[in-house]
Amino acid sequence: MPQVGFVVTSIIHYKGYVDLVKNGTIGRQMSQRGDPFEWSGGHPALDFVNTMDERPFHAPIENLATYRDLVRFTEVAGLIERPLAAALRDRAGSACARVAKRARKLREHLYKVLVAAHRADPMPQMDLVAVGAAIRAAHAARFLVASPSATLAHHRWVRGAEIDAPLHACALAAEHLLAGMDRGRIRKCGARDCEVYFIDTSKGQRRRWCSMTNCGNRAKQRRWRSSAE
Ligand SMILES: [Zn+2]
Repeated sequence: MPQVGFVVTSIIHYKGYVDLVKNGTIGRQMSQRGDPFEWSGGHPALDFVNTMDERPFHAPIENLATYRDLVRFTEVAGLIERPLAAALRDRAGSACARVAKRARKLREHLYKVLVAAHRADPMPQMDLVAVGAAIRAAHAARFLVASPSATLAHHRWVRGAEIDAPLHACALAAEHLLAGMDRGRIRKCGARDCEVYFIDTSKGQRRRWCSMTNCGNRAKQRRWRSSAE
């Protein structure tokens, strides 16, 4: 059978995500070109949630306003392959707008799950069901083919599902976050006016801020000012 469809990015990729962010494979390259995304989540599903910037404020900043934004985010996050991103990035029209809208909805369902977990509230079943439906759709859009590389087989997107692939890829990342990561390491930034979520990979699990250059630095300055008064 001829191999059709683009390769689905492997879950294994997420395990090296933090290192890829650190060494600039993810994020930095695009940042130099004015990438608006927040790359401090340490997991692609958290960086996905963090694409809604400045959540606590009156007018949060939507960084997934268009399908092109979604393609760009998933490409830089390594959630879809470069050739697939290249094939999708100039697509437009109502079908693309619907995919972007579904991705934003998925993100907000995932966000509500994270907020409930952070506040130790009961899990919002409606949101969990919605995320689960997106994950099921993502699974249904893949098929298994024999692989010549290290594994016996790998997944590819079924032909015709390419346009949905950025959305599906976010759903698969959400699945890995919810069902594959230690809940104790999923944190919200300690700043009251910052709702950036991240994976705490520090040894003592004491990371408090989304980034030291941003919220960490502000907290340090506040402490310095109050001690100087
Ligand atoms: Zn923060």
